[in-house]
Amino acid sequence: MENSFKNKVALVTGGSYGIGRAAAAAFAAKGAKVVVADFVEDKVQETLNMVKAAGSEGIFIKCDVAKSGDVKAMIAETVATFGRLDFAFNNAGIEGSFANTQDCTEENWDRTIAVNLKGVWLCMKYEIPEMLKQGKGAIVNCASVAGLIGFPALPAYVASKHGVSGITKTTALENAKQNIRVNAVCPGVIETPMIDRITGRDKEVEKKYVDMEPMGRMGNADEVANAVIWLCSDSASFVTGICMPVDGGWIADS
Ligand code: NAP
Repeated sequence: MENSFKNKVALVTGGSYGIGRAAAAAFAAKGAKVVVADFVEDKVQETLNMVKAAGSEGIFIKCDVAKSGDVKAMIAETVATFGRLDFAFNNAGIEGSFANTQDCTEENWDRTIAVNLKGVWLCMKYEIPEMLKQGKGAIVNCASVAGLIGFPALPAYVASKHGVSGITKTTALENAKQNIRVNAVCPGVIETPMIDRITGRDKEVEKKYVDMEPMGRMGNADEVANAVIWLCSDSASFVTGICMPVDGGWIADS
């Protein structure tokens, strides 16, 4: 099959590190030019170095995905720089703070929903018109196993990720005849700075998370990136509207 990625342009939000960084490097390794968008720029150079080392070119665009002006400008700058937008991995997300529903603060609720859910909607709102102009595109949203099942003490995160699953299916249906495929990945426990923050790198807490995984280990960011690349590729040409667990078997056990 023809390389689906050569001379194409991929956008990755939250690409400074973690799953986004791995996806940016994976798009580059396939031959796509990469736009790495993130809230802060202090860690992004390492991602851009990986894109270059993979033999492609990349740029950084500063963007808070919760802000419509930032997202609109991000898409405009992407098209101004590279002339097109073929793939988008709407990955930026935050875990928020842990508290049961009745103790969840309004501030935590609002920010978590704004970044994780409104951010994904805003990205698709401005990505889809560019893809429609080209007559083709592939979008992957980053949900979570928390977009498929509940987790005590994470009400805002779980609500936001269930929302991502829902809007993925809806947007996939809206664009099914327009040759724009929209899917989501639902990672399990993946070794990234987010998980380091959650566990505090405490070995006992880490073990609790590993024990939730039927495979008996955490996943790594490259394993999620591989699924993102497959979903964007022409090999997945009849796949749209799915929320794909990349979770070591966790959902199979629930
Ligand atoms: P991470 O290591 O914390 O990376 C998240 C990235 O998103 C960071 O670069 C972060 O930048 C950026 N970001 C945060 N808020 C943003 C905003 N408002 N606008 C733009 N960028 C923003 O997290 P990760 O583990 O790679 O997670 C990536 C995605 O996977 C998230 O959506 C997360 O919910 C999901 N996920 C992760 C796991 C896991 O086990 N790691 C499991 C399921 C789902 P700064 O931190 O510098 O602001």
